[in-house]
Amino acid sequence: MRCALSTLQGLSKSLLTARTSSHPAPLVAQPSPDTMHLPLLRTLVPVLMLAAVGLFSPGAHGADAGPFVFPSHRHAGDVKTACDAVMADLGAQERRVAAGQGGGNVLLGMERLNQTAEDRVYVLAFLANVHPDKGLRDAAEACELRYQAFSSRLFQNEKIHARLQAHEAIDPVDAQFRRDLLASFEDAGVALAPARRDRARALNNEIARLGQAFERRVREDRTRVPFTVAELEGVPEGVWSKAPLDARGRRLIGLDYPSYTPVVESARNPATRERIWRAFQNRGGDANLRTLARIGQERRAYARLFGLSSYADFAIRRRMAGDVGRVQSFLGEVKGVVEQRELRDIADLRAAKAADLGTAPEATTVRRWDASYYVERVKRDRFALDQNSFRQHFPPQASVDFVMALAGRLFDVGFRPLAQTLWHPDAQAYEVFDPASQRSIATLYLDLYPRPDKYGHAAVWGLRGSATLDGRLPTAALVTNFDREGLTLDELETLLHEFGHALHGALSATRYSSNAGTNVKLDFVEAPSQMLEEWVYDARVLALFQQVCPACAPVPADLLERAVRSRSFAKGLQFARQHLYASYDLALHGPAAPSPMATWARMEGDTPLGFVKGTMFPAAFSHLSGGYGAGYYAYLWSLAIAQDLHTAFAADPLDAVVGRRYREGVLGRGGEVDPDELVTRFLGRPPGNAAFFQWLDR
Ligand SMILES: [Zn+2]
Repeated sequence: MRCALSTLQGLSKSLLTARTSSHPAPLVAQPSPDTMHLPLLRTLVPVLMLAAVGLFSPGAHGADAGPFVFPSHRHAGDVKTACDAVMADLGAQERRVAAGQGGGNVLLGMERLNQTAEDRVYVLAFLANVHPDKGLRDAAEACELRYQAFSSRLFQNEKIHARLQAHEAIDPVDAQFRRDLLASFEDAGVALAPARRDRARALNNEIARLGQAFERRVREDRTRVPFTVAELEGVPEGVWSKAPLDARGRRLIGLDYPSYTPVVESARNPATRERIWRAFQNRGGDANLRTLARIGQERRAYARLFGLSSYADFAIRRRMAGDVGRVQSFLGEVKGVVEQRELRDIADLRAAKAADLGTAPEATTVRRWDASYYVERVKRDRFALDQNSFRQHFPPQASVDFVMALAGRLFDVGFRPLAQTLWHPDAQAYEVFDPASQRSIATLYLDLYPRPDKYGHAAVWGLRGSATLDGRLPTAALVTNFDREGLTLDELETLLHEFGHALHGALSATRYSSNAGTNVKLDFVEAPSQMLEEWVYDARVLALFQQVCPACAPVPADLLERAVRSRSFAKGLQFARQHLYASYDLALHGPAAPSPMATWARMEGDTPLGFVKGTMFPAAFSHLSGGYGAGYYAYLWSLAIAQDLHTAFAADPLDAVVGRRYREGVLGRGGEVDPDELVTRFLGRPPGNAAFFQWLDR
């Protein structure tokens, strides 16, 4: 969700845009978390040749043979000092690249700039989302904005642009990198008349600032809703027993996932569900609605500088989909599959509510705060399934060990803990290594549990991309907000989804960091993670759990079987909601750039469950303020690709031969090959939507 960056290109894209996040959200409640995303670039000169020429001697630009060492920023002052130094270095590098000095061609010059930004700015952008110290977070955000301003100027540098235009690529990887860079320069406004160019820069910087403010208000929201113990009937005691008390002795329940979700899914009292649901819907508040409106207007103004009528036109022309019409046509097909099914789901929920309350179904109305509760109830009644029953089987640390074991089995990699001083005692570091040679492949950081002011969804930050040209190893940080008591099956799916993003980075073997890992087109970036979600529903896969945690009780076969069957229930409701989010995003970024709240009230009002007056869901929809502007459709688009990719593993989800081919052919290539071509090569045929629509209709 983040990043202000869709308008930002190239290097800057990485940063602000840089988070990859988690998957489509739980049921009816909110949008999914997403993924992040970095910049782009490419080349082709073999490493040895570069080393011989002295351009990229190992160590010179962050190339390592070993794990990444997380920098020790402890105070705002450390961040300010580090920021001053890196900004000065970036400026000096830009001048050398523009002058053709410093050795190497222009692609290598841009790659070096990217590596400097990754090593010294990306970490700060990450800390802005997870560090416990507000002063440090604020200093890190200030540095992001300085980097944004640098990036806006860099991609308008006419001398570098001219060098790129004159550059002759020596192979397809370099050619792709050059094309991506040229697109980034064009999209930053290098070819605009001077006044328009200045305006483009100002808009880019302002959109980044607004996006930060939007996200900060959501992240630092400390709303807690008071309930008596009686009002919390039905909610597992572990959820509230340690919650603080207010002056009247009521429990104060926060809006983090481990607190919010169990209340809205299991509180017997509808008034309890309504109160916490409304509080959750109103995160971000009026200030964020105003910010979102400004972002939409400024994005439209940005697109108009380029003669385009909408930001959606501007953004989508660089993606797989290519144009807005193709996205709308795809969304129309999705709607066709789920529309009637959503009505049937709601009828089921109404019947469940009527039976629960002893009312007549025709006189019973399903309210939005009822949806999650009765979905879970129907799953309990119809499938005897309670997601909480999985927690005893999936302790958090064992779950991490499990996804690592799965990655090891499929992709032939190992993981071992590293001792490093990190930003919080909960955070962990792992080295990813090659089992045969024991050599380092990547570094991975984990931060699993909620705490005040921490980023509230699940997401992965790519901190450093692979670059085979100088032996640079990738680094990523995975952030979730799990209950320390254990994971549900849904949460294990989320963990594997995020781990999929981390693997996309860790197993990347691209020539340039700018093309590494998740630096792919936005409407492809979720596909590798969404594909892996399927794995947790397979008994052969879950059996690996006992290898890493012999003391963990195995999931009974019939429990898993019921979970698989219950997955189909409420799919209409779930995907109609995803369709609404994607359509709303396109409307906000269409030619009119309409009012976010009025548009939402109208569009949600047209759905069967309607709009609830007094709520403001868009105020916390940070996908839109960030890197998924005019890109929320990417979750559905990528899911179609994911289901197609999954067909290759259908016979055996643990097939290491297919896994190896996938690792090298898809994950390993990052953004240096067009995604359509990557998928076509892997499947041995062009990709299609048939598998997705079958799955959706199942
Ligand atoms: Zn994701």
